[in-house]
Amino acid sequence: MKRSGLNTLCVHAAHAPDAAVGSIAEPIYLSTTFERDADGGYPRGYRYSREGTPNRTALEACVAALEGGAGAVAFASGLAANMAVLDLLGTDDRLVAPTEAYYGSLKQFRDVSRQRGASLELIDFRDHAGIEAAVAGGARLLWMETPSNPLLNITDLEAASAIAHDAGALVVCDNTFATPVCQRPFSFGVDLVVHSATKYLGGHSDVLSGVVVVREDQEVLERLRAWQRTAGSPLAPFDSWLLRRSIATLGLRVRAQCHGALKVAEFLASHSAVERVYYPGLASHPGHTLAAAQMHGGFGAVLAVCIVGGAEEALQIAGRTRLFTRATSLGGVESLIEHRASIEGPGSRTPQNLLRLSVGIEEPEDLVDDLAQALE
Ligand code: PLP
Repeated sequence: MKRSGLNTLCVHAAHAPDAAVGSIAEPIYLSTTFERDADGGYPRGYRYSREGTPNRTALEACVAALEGGAGAVAFASGLAANMAVLDLLGTDDRLVAPTEAYYGSLKQFRDVSRQRGASLELIDFRDHAGIEAAVAGGARLLWMETPSNPLLNITDLEAASAIAHDAGALVVCDNTFATPVCQRPFSFGVDLVVHSATKYLGGHSDVLSGVVVVREDQEVLERLRAWQRTAGSPLAPFDSWLLRRSIATLGLRVRAQCHGALKVAEFLASHSAVERVYYPGLASHPGHTLAAAQMHGGFGAVLAVCIVGGAEEALQIAGRTRLFTRATSLGGVESLIEHRASIEGPGSRTPQNLLRLSVGIEEPEDLVDDLAQALE
């Protein structure tokens, strides 16, 4: 059967009027426990909410449909979703990951590999010979993040997946920045997609959440579900409901945000107070051609900009914005600006003069005006 279009899936995937009363909005099932039949069985499929609850089931089916995977598992944060995947690492296994990625994920990679006695290779994924060398001798997991946080590096999903598969590795892609609206990693051979659903899937800066989606490996899907039960970090019913509701507008929001981000990036690239703009939608970005080939409908809505000067000049500019709110995180309907190095703290490799911008759904002209006055 033909796959429905994106917005159709966003509205209808795993969503139908409630069978009991016909409500169009999904009811929220807060119950932690579910009734057994007189014979002791659970014919309605639910027993205890840590193991499964209707709002989480609906959300997981919806995200799996959006990514085109066999199943999804939802957690209480993006990092909890990462941890479930990292639990696949055993002693002496190798994890290959990028040097440039969300700093919280990098910390997890270091901590988990050390605790488990696994080895960690951090490499630049733009160098394919480097990927081949890192997986030579075998690897359990190859982890990509594209576009990456905060420098918007682009990784060739198809080429990296092929190299990793030849070495017997499972391939993971953090698709938080692109979302299934702009990038569908499974079509390039990726095995697992992770999301900080706190960002675009949630879209309103009000729900901390994470999801892992599995392309087809049922054994891995069962391992992740077992981790969700035993680690006790599933997404709560209300948060699952909020997320499923937000996903109805995911396509509309993300496409508008990508459009705004391109306008903002073009403006910043032409400004004399700006040293460099990192945005894969700009032809000047080194990963632009690759991004244009593997992304669609836009290049995401996060960009980074290096200001002429240092940390002080960057902080002063952030201090003058009126529409862009000074806050960390990204993906919400409101535009945010942050001095990235000071959020990442000591040891950050992010340039001191870098500001990261998350473009919301406001009118792009208003955002450009705001930045113009802040840069004056
Ligand atoms: N992955 C990426 C790319 C992120 O940007 C973040 C958070 O900023 C995470 C994972 C972690 O997600 P969470 O904050 O929901 O735990």
